[in-house]
Amino acid sequence: MKGYAGKLLRVNLSAGTVTDEPLSLPTVHDFIAGLGFGIKYLYDELAPHVDPLGEHNKLLFVPGLLAGTQAQSVSRWLVCTKSPMTGCFARSCCGGDFGAWIRFAGYDFIIVEGKAEKPVYLYVTAEGTQIKDAAELWGKDTGYTQEWLTQQHGKDVRVACIGQAGEKLVKYSAIVSGKRTASRCGGGTIMGTKLLKAVAIKARRNLDLHDPDGFGKLVKEQIEIMRASKEYHKNREYGTTDGAITRNIIGVYPVRNYRYGELKDYQKLSPEAYKEMEIGDFGCYSCSIRCGKIHVVSHGPYAGVRSEGPEYESLWAFTGPIDNTNIESTVAADQLCDDLGLDSISTGVTIGFAYELYEKGIITKDDTDGLELNYGNHVVMMSLIKKIGQREGFGDILAEGTLRAAKHIGKGAEAYAMQTKGLELAGYEPRGLKGTGFGYATSTIGGSHTNGTVMFQEFGFPVPRPVDRFTEEGKTDIVIHNQNRDSSMEVGIVCFFAFLCGDWFGRIFLKMLEAATGIEKFADREYFDKVGERIWNLERAFNVREGFDRTHDTLPQRFQTEPLHTIEAEGEGQILRKLDQFLDEYYHLRGWTQSGVPSREKLQELGLGYVVKDMEPFLTKE
Ligand code: SF4
Repeated sequence: MKGYAGKLLRVNLSAGTVTDEPLSLPTVHDFIAGLGFGIKYLYDELAPHVDPLGEHNKLLFVPGLLAGTQAQSVSRWLVCTKSPMTGCFARSCCGGDFGAWIRFAGYDFIIVEGKAEKPVYLYVTAEGTQIKDAAELWGKDTGYTQEWLTQQHGKDVRVACIGQAGEKLVKYSAIVSGKRTASRCGGGTIMGTKLLKAVAIKARRNLDLHDPDGFGKLVKEQIEIMRASKEYHKNREYGTTDGAITRNIIGVYPVRNYRYGELKDYQKLSPEAYKEMEIGDFGCYSCSIRCGKIHVVSHGPYAGVRSEGPEYESLWAFTGPIDNTNIESTVAADQLCDDLGLDSISTGVTIGFAYELYEKGIITKDDTDGLELNYGNHVVMMSLIKKIGQREGFGDILAEGTLRAAKHIGKGAEAYAMQTKGLELAGYEPRGLKGTGFGYATSTIGGSHTNGTVMFQEFGFPVPRPVDRFTEEGKTDIVIHNQNRDSSMEVGIVCFFAFLCGDWFGRIFLKMLEAATGIEKFADREYFDKVGERIWNLERAFNVREGFDRTHDTLPQRFQTEPLHTIEAEGEGQILRKLDQFLDEYYHLRGWTQSGVPSREKLQELGLGYVVKDMEPFLTKE
């Protein structure tokens, strides 16, 4: 099995066992790697209705097939589990080196199951894996944890760990690795439930490819194409910090808990302003774009704070939801979330939700530990982040995310929870990007912007075609196209920023899969696209088995009843009106029932015949 390690590492923390298992060949052929392995193993191994926070949930660390090679921007990795936020399948993507290190250690992926009796960490090498005492690390932040493990095991160790938030089971805890995070869906929370503080891998760079010379030529071609694109140089220069300007100009920057589409003084958050704070950059393994920018605050209340970010989503999450344009606070909040191990999107949206409840009088100072949640107040935002990360006072309620916090608070608070399937939405306004709204609604992991949304075609990206962002009709095929494409891209975990740098993906990436493995059909576009569709359908089947149906493919009512305000014209603006019509067409084109259940025929067509028996109870309800 050239290109593969040919085995996975299974760690059972309850039993204290560590086992190497061979990869199954049919799984390799049907799912290739990466996200394909993540959903296939979780679907097969997780009994329906397992408590996400219980001992029987599993956590997978999954690199893509080309991680650790010289191919550009394909060494990201995934955390797959059943989400404590949504109860759905969860996949969260992370950059850095850790994915490459899993492969260097001789594994295609890692499965962690069970629960330890006391805090532990895993020490993985090509010679074996040890479950080690983490008493020294429990209660410590992610920076300390990574430094301590590096001191213990040497510079060539790479770490994925949780901070205090994961230990305290904040529902949207992140896993932090180097300067990057697997933020979404609560993977860090699952590590916390297992008392698993960290996974540390020590390995030598070493992979065995089928055709190394051919692969090298493809990498050269890929680099030439990427470097010839404008996008490459823009991302290399600014990372994603231009997002605040470009999204505000067209009015899709969610502000004040998704009521407005723009910030009043958004120019204060310009890429040039971030540039002034920049002291360096960093990139994921084998990526010359190096979109990560390191910022240091030189003055004001946050002077001295240094952070490897924020990138666009975090930048937005610390400004839009609370109407804040203090740029230094975005660097400080980013660092604080990384230290505590928090998903910055869910943190920012949950805090924005609390600010609106405070404005409306649904909560008062008596509920917020005396804090005044007034728009623009970033000092209070920082206090709330600390409280959430430590589950202190009011932070204990917000640590549950908007949906659960709203249920706890009552008094109609649920109307202000900006989430889908329990996962907070991202920094793109669905009334100004309607296809993106449909993507949020039908995403298999909840309100994610990286799971098939069509924002880039709505911004003008020409493949398969650009679309008018305000139109609701005629986008269903693109939503499906993107969902399948994103699923297939994640067998090799192609970074989306690199995907946008010239036309290399269709021309080169599939050939790379073939050159790495010698499996010819991986270079066949039709076969490859089918794998993407198979992955998406299996994710859907996972969720159907958990009880999800059409009623969960929805968006907060705000988007469907309240016009998107602009600063100049409150009360005017776009509404998303045709979600139901979209769903009719979406299910039809997907080959699913009108309740959103994959049909027997579709499952058979995709080689998922073994799933039909699980869908029968839902199909016969029709
Ligand atoms: S573009 Fe940025 S996020 Fe993507 S692989 Fe490169 S450094 Fe990582």
